[in-house]
Amino acid sequence: MKAYRLLAWQQAPQLLDIPVPEPGPGQVRLKVAGNGICQSDLHLIHEWTASPPHIKVELPMTIGHEVGGWIDKEGPGVSGFEQGQAAVITIAGCGHCRYCAQGWNQYCMHKSKQVGMGLDGGLAEYVVAPANAVVPVGNMDPADAAPLTDAGLSSYHAVKRVLPLLTGGATVAIIGVGGLGHMAIQEIKTMSAARIIAYDTNEISLALAAELGADLCLKSEDPHFEAGSADVVLDFVGAGPTIKAAARMIRPRGHIVVVGRGGGSVDFTHKFMPYGATLSTTFGGSKLELMELISLVEAGHIKPHTSRYALDDVELALGKLAKGEIIGRAVIVP
Ligand SMILES: [Zn+2]
Ligand SMILES: [Zn+2]
Repeated sequence: MKAYRLLAWQQAPQLLDIPVPEPGPGQVRLKVAGNGICQSDLHLIHEWTASPPHIKVELPMTIGHEVGGWIDKEGPGVSGFEQGQAAVITIAGCGHCRYCAQGWNQYCMHKSKQVGMGLDGGLAEYVVAPANAVVPVGNMDPADAAPLTDAGLSSYHAVKRVLPLLTGGATVAIIGVGGLGHMAIQEIKTMSAARIIAYDTNEISLALAAELGADLCLKSEDPHFEAGSADVVLDFVGAGPTIKAAARMIRPRGHIVVVGRGGGSVDFTHKFMPYGATLSTTFGGSKLELMELISLVEAGHIKPHTSRYALDDVELALGKLAKGEIIGRAVIVP
């Protein structure tokens, strides 16, 4: 089968022919329908020089962590899936730590290898995943469902965290209307009556934001980040200037969630934000939140905006993503 593999850090990945993987005990094999590509893939390819110590990523590895497909084979000890069933792959926790016990599998204390991050990922014709990471998606096309596992879930988790603040009359600022931001707008519209201000550098992304129901769409430029204008800021960029813009916009007792991994840093002092404001980060979302999100999509409230590319064109798509030319999410279809 074809697979897009990273052979060594800081080297361009290659589309190679490798054997179809066999699912081991506790694993399931999926025939890949689609794999969404993400800024994290660009960080992994271009910036990482070694594995983060806690997950011990070993190369070579097939890239791709936003996977949808059809159940193809259950490994020894696995049952409960149906052949050909549409499903997506999420982050599997250990299942027995305090975080997993509370349902926060993505914050598991025993950081383990995940599909596309230590385990071979979904930019391939087939992928093998831990059975407890596989979530059925009902009648959805699994290629359309793939972006729900990261673009959808990471934004949904952030929106759920701030939901108590999104009462009628509240304003939420979204910085970055990309894969995650365009989902966040729909999630907020579905679950609250809050007013949404969307910021992006790309006019086409701002047009998408308006189409999805954002009340005000502004270029991410300094004069547009009005002081004290938001009860919640969701920063899907996470660069130094966007975190500073968030701190300027946030109101007392507001909440800034930095979801994007732009690597920005700020000098945090007592005066960095108004009194009572919260600054937090997130990673992914829980399995239960993914199930909730799938239900909202099935009910027609939320729809990922996607464009499809063949696996042979994965480099073209990654190049466009790096240049900010992907509107919504690009899904690679093998
Ligand atoms: Zn990602
Ligand atoms: Zn755990």
